Amino acid sequence: MARKSTDARQIVTMQCTDCRERNYSTIKNRRNNTTRMELRKYCSRCRNHQVHREVR
Ligand SMILES: [Zn+2]
Repeated sequence: MARKSTDARQIVTMQCTDCRERNYSTIKNRRNNTTRMELRKYCSRCRNHQVHREVR
């Protein structure tokens, strides 16, 4: 009864495109965002800001 529909939201993992380290996880809205997300985030392994891409 209290259960909400989580169908539109999906937990995705953000992976560094340089070293393949999976640094971040985020929730994306599938209705707004159907393509793969790319975000510039700090990678602790590269010690730099790198483009992180969504992985499944
Ligand atoms: Zn990295």
